Amino acid sequence: MSTTRMRYFSDQPSGPVELLTITTMDNAQFAQVFPGVCGLRSDGFQKLVGRVVPGAPYLPVTRRIDYKRRPSLHVCNAKCVGGKPTGTCECQCGGAHHGRGLITDLLPSAARH
Ligand SMILES: [Zn+2]
Repeated sequence: MSTTRMRYFSDQPSGPVELLTITTMDNAQFAQVFPGVCGLRSDGFQKLVGRVVPGAPYLPVTRRIDYKRRPSLHVCNAKCVGGKPTGTCECQCGGAHHGRGLITDLLPSAARH
């Protein structure tokens, strides 16, 4: 039995949103709809996109987090935020900040693990 589940996020100017309905879009269309966005690949020909709610426009998946089913829910730290965009997370953010890159105002001065 899997001890993690995949969570998909799209980094928007307003912050990360979690995507629920995940599908694929071919690379050419993706480049046209989301110019300049480096989305996650599904394979060599397609990239991942998803919707926040059914019927909403597709957004590019920019991070895919393996979220633990029994997370320790620790405070986000540099390891989380600076992790890979496809890494494993078990902190309070639920993966929302995992792999976003170091954003200093997110990090408490005494980051706990
Ligand atoms: Zn986190």
